[in-house]
Amino acid sequence: MNAQHRSRSEFQFQARKVAVVGGTRGIGAAIVSTFVRAGHDVLLTGRTVPDAVVEKFRSEATREGQTVEALALDSAAPDSAERLATAASARIGGLDVLCLNAGVFPNRPLAELTYTDIREVFAVNVESQMLAVAACLPLLRESAAGRVVFTSSITGPVTGFPGWSHYGASKAAQLGFMRTAALELAPHGITVNAVAPGNVATEGLDGMGEDYLAQMTATIPLGRLARPQEIADAVEFLAGERASFITGQVITVDGGQTLPESPEAVLPLPTGSPR
Ligand code: NAP
Repeated sequence: MNAQHRSRSEFQFQARKVAVVGGTRGIGAAIVSTFVRAGHDVLLTGRTVPDAVVEKFRSEATREGQTVEALALDSAAPDSAERLATAASARIGGLDVLCLNAGVFPNRPLAELTYTDIREVFAVNVESQMLAVAACLPLLRESAAGRVVFTSSITGPVTGFPGWSHYGASKAAQLGFMRTAALELAPHGITVNAVAPGNVATEGLDGMGEDYLAQMTATIPLGRLARPQEIADAVEFLAGERASFITGQVITVDGGQTLPESPEAVLPLPTGSPR
């Protein structure tokens, strides 16, 4: 297809301005790489953003004049949303896509759960994201096709796991916010969606130990954890032109993890089974 035959909307989805909150490693790094390789201008954040990480993303740029910018920013800080919006405006020239990926998931059994634990998880996983959407709204409204994409989880909205009650509650709250934000922003042509990963092989899971990872893998019908890129692909889809009529929705990317009604459902079929 030559340029003359491309629709106006196709051009609207080229060289977009993308912010990825929590983009230094894990799923967020895959999201950043995906948008950089697609030729978009990207602003990424993390509490610490090593120069080597930014240089690696810059080396993946595919377009002349493409910008990859980084901002060291603790999402839990009271002024983080304003600083994010200001940086998006000043450093990448606006905002078409806001990816809210930063999340913390400390294990804390209910018997040990404190006020501080809950505050820490909700500050990053929920409150900072609500405030980021609000602060970035003037920029997103200027976009021809604004997009907000949350990284949610199956834990909370669909499943539970001992030790992560506060985390699960935060991810359920995040989706509650997403649905009303989708309604409020629809008149501005802005879509708001989420991707809900199952277990993903990231640095964030490294500390959980081999037993936990083996236990998780055994419950996943596709027989492995997700790769970060598989989550990023769903984020890219929701941010792109082909998702233009999808809003307020969750795409679960879990290898079938939420499907089995009992552990037997993921065991090999017995020989001669009628199934
Ligand atoms: P990760 O490897 O720990 O990376 C988290 C990213 O968020 C890093 O870039 C980190 O950078 C940033 N971040 C964390 N706290 C932050 C804060 N206070 N302010 C700014 N940035 C912050 O985590 P992940 O496994 O990729 O998870 C990413 C998202 O996916 C989270 O929302 C998580 O809940 C969700 N998720 C993960 C899995 C999984 O299996 N991994 C499953 C379901 C959902 P800094 O450390 O530099 O701040």
